[in-house]
Amino acid sequence: MDNLEPVITFIAKNLAKPGYRFQHMGESEKCKTCKMYQVCIQPLEAERIYEVVEILENEFECPIHEEQIKVVRVKETEKEVVIPTNMTFSGATISFQPQECPEICDFRKFCVPAGLKEGDKVRIIDTIKKAECSEGKEISVVLVARIPQENQT
Ligand SMILES: [Zn+2]
Repeated sequence: MDNLEPVITFIAKNLAKPGYRFQHMGESEKCKTCKMYQVCIQPLEAERIYEVVEILENEFECPIHEEQIKVVRVKETEKEVVIPTNMTFSGATISFQPQECPEICDFRKFCVPAGLKEGDKVRIIDTIKKAECSEGKEISVVLVARIPQENQT
């Protein structure tokens, strides 16, 4: 499988619900010295968006934030993004490029989506709709899943 597999991490108990989404904003200085770092922070990548897919039994207290945390499985979310229509093939793998579009673009959140960076390898899962953007370009809103890079272990 080339999809991103779910990973185990911790999340605050009150947020530990299936379907809860969050963007991982990176680690705090304090987290680096925490004994739970390897499970809590290390599996996640900064700026990626994750969704809770499973709540596990175990519960701990976060030594840094003094709150109850649950062990959960999270999965990086699939994303709706804009790509030029001539690059749209279901199942194709492309190198993601954010669209250069004006601030007022109707598709802005798909043109420059949170959680994806220029050059990310993504697989096109489905075409959601085709449209003409404010610049007159033929674009498609497609659902994509990021493909992990080989050198990340
Ligand atoms: Zn746009």
